Amino acid sequence: MVKAVVGANWGDEGKGKITDMLADEADVVIRFQGGANAGHTIVNRYGKFALHTLPSGVFHPHVTNIIGNGVALNIPKVCEELSDIESKGVPAPQLLVSDRCQIVMPYHILQDACEEERLGGHSFGSTKSGIAPFYADKYAKIGFQVSELFADDAYLLEKIGMICARKNALLTHLYHREPLREEEILQTLHEYRDMIKPYVADTGLFLDRAVRENRTILLEGQLGTLKDPDHGIYPMVTSSSTLAAFGAIGAGIPPYEIRQIIVVNKAYSSAVGAGEFVSEIFGDEAQELRDRGGDGGEYGATTGRPRRVGWYDCVASRYGVRMQGATDVALTVLDVLGYLDEIPVCTAYEIDGKQVTEFPVTHLLAKAKPVYTMLPGWKCDIRGIRKYDDLPKACRDYVEFIEKQLGYPVTMVSNGPAREDIIYR
Ligand code: GDP
Repeated sequence: MVKAVVGANWGDEGKGKITDMLADEADVVIRFQGGANAGHTIVNRYGKFALHTLPSGVFHPHVTNIIGNGVALNIPKVCEELSDIESKGVPAPQLLVSDRCQIVMPYHILQDACEEERLGGHSFGSTKSGIAPFYADKYAKIGFQVSELFADDAYLLEKIGMICARKNALLTHLYHREPLREEEILQTLHEYRDMIKPYVADTGLFLDRAVRENRTILLEGQLGTLKDPDHGIYPMVTSSSTLAAFGAIGAGIPPYEIRQIIVVNKAYSSAVGAGEFVSEIFGDEAQELRDRGGDGGEYGATTGRPRRVGWYDCVASRYGVRMQGATDVALTVLDVLGYLDEIPVCTAYEIDGKQVTEFPVTHLLAKAKPVYTMLPGWKCDIRGIRKYDDLPKACRDYVEFIEKQLGYPVTMVSNGPAREDIIYR
């Protein structure tokens, strides 16, 4: 059976923890989109890890971990992550990298940084990992697939020449930088080939067999619905689809095989980078939530930058869960809210004097003001509780209020960062 674990919001919902937890019973875990621009934080018996490209099944020796064709593959970063986890005592994981996966090149990272600098105050708040230029090149059909690393030099040099002609016009004229050197790119490709060689496979074929053998396969998404290039807060989105549906494409499996879609939804809101965020809060109120949030504060797993925080947004979450096609909602980081007397929940937006409850397109979203409903807090620590009925009444009411607003079943509640901090309903 194929299951997907994806985000309802702006990312950082706790997908890594849920995937790590479900990986226990999985045979295969696949990353199907995105790159090293975001991170999953996982806490387990080996320690605390920030994974950027490696699938969250790497801590389970029985799991085959796959980097699917839809991912933006930064080869040195993946190798660094592998040696990092191994240096902390994690046994070398089973890892396969799709031969159709495309490669993030140093010039993508350079281009990302140059463009953000050029945009100045209008920048996208990119992590400068090269993701947008990478996907732009992929769809402009000038990217390198992993399989091409094994082509001969004549083939590679011809392609490099064509790429340099385009990139160098941009680099020298628009960004006033040094041009790329063809020999250097060839050498980089050779180095990348040697680094990634042990892992390269026809993962589509592997997955076809795994599906036929009825193995448990987990598709692991990065970021969340609101960062999807089609259905999110365009243009402040990421460059690959964050939806479970894209899992079929980014992994290479039939869409009808995805039977369970677990949408991870955070009990308050957080976001990194620029873009509309209606229920965002500021000042001391925000700093307190930021410092108490997640596991050790709401600071980016990749960049360490402070995340923007806000109250739970029913309008955005309902949309986020719906667009993913949830069969299950996992409500996470509920424990963090235990310090509040009352908890504001955004139940509608006011746009031009009218209240709306359906998530609007971006230019209207920019005008939206949050309409809050106040719910009573539970004023205690709920970590360690394992049964839903043992949660304080006000806490259950909070969960049930959200479930009603969403219109999708909340089947899991996460009340701590560790694998075992989970309540099944
Ligand atoms: P992801 O990208 O969706 O995997 O999310 P991140 O890993 O970036 O952010 C989630 C953060 O919240 C991490 O620091 C997790 O360890 C932490 N976390 C996950 N679930 C819970 C939870 O239920 N309670 C608390 N306190 N922290 C959690």
